[in-house]
Amino acid sequence: MTLREALAQAAALGVARIDAQLLLLHVLGREGDRAWLLAHDDDALGAQAEEKFRALCRRRLDDEPVAYLTGRKEFFGLPLAVDARVLVPRPDTETIVEWALELLRDMPAPRVLDLGTGSGAIALAIQHARRDAQVEAVDRSAEALEVAQANARRLGLPVRFRQASWLDGAGTYDLIASNPPYIRSDDGHLASLRHEPREALVAGPDGLDDLRAIANAAPAHLRPGGWLMLEHGWDQAEAVRGLLAAAGFAEPASRCDLAGIARCSGGRRLELG
Ligand code: GLN
Repeated sequence: MTLREALAQAAALGVARIDAQLLLLHVLGREGDRAWLLAHDDDALGAQAEEKFRALCRRRLDDEPVAYLTGRKEFFGLPLAVDARVLVPRPDTETIVEWALELLRDMPAPRVLDLGTGSGAIALAIQHARRDAQVEAVDRSAEALEVAQANARRLGLPVRFRQASWLDGAGTYDLIASNPPYIRSDDGHLASLRHEPREALVAGPDGLDDLRAIANAAPAHLRPGGWLMLEHGWDQAEAVRGLLAAAGFAEPASRCDLAGIARCSGGRRLELG
């Protein structure tokens, strides 16, 4: 069969077109090269490759993220290796990176902490853009840290990693960023996320358990004027700005993701005290 026929078969099974393209390119060892695929759709697909492609399509139909099936995901222009030990980095999370880089722009050698780093996405993107930054990243999961450390090594980025729960053992920073778990434990869309680590997704009945814990602990680890930035769910911006204000942060504000949803909120530790 040709590549075009293989894609048509995947479409008939219900696999989204872009997913099928990425899976087929992965099988062919041409990672992400959709232009090549369009130009070669009359090429023949070998029997072995066809069987491999079909198996990946079946797994995709069982909701396994494409990133786990191909073992990679691009985040902020960086190719990251990912697997089921970590949450798949989402484009939404690029919002927090952009905002952090703006705030750090005029600050030489800033000290930055990424809490619950997972694949290392936020820490690595900031370190890549700011070679002079001292970036530290923590995760409670030793398995996640293995993935993040391997990404840092492969990309040649000097992020320092540490196993810890939120701010335990942390120092003092100019900026703390986090994409913590924030989904309510009864949220229906968890079913479709069942291949990803539950502890990276779910945070109690209101989804705010971890956001609250971080907001309360962060002031003691920020220099006066330092920033805390938190990613959160589509309907949590107001609640998170409230948590920041309650923890003594000044100027709580929110930023939208590419879909126009207020996706992250941040605040400044007051200069005094
Ligand atoms: N944005 C992710 C989702 O809803 C959740 C990420 C998180 O809990 N930090 O699929």
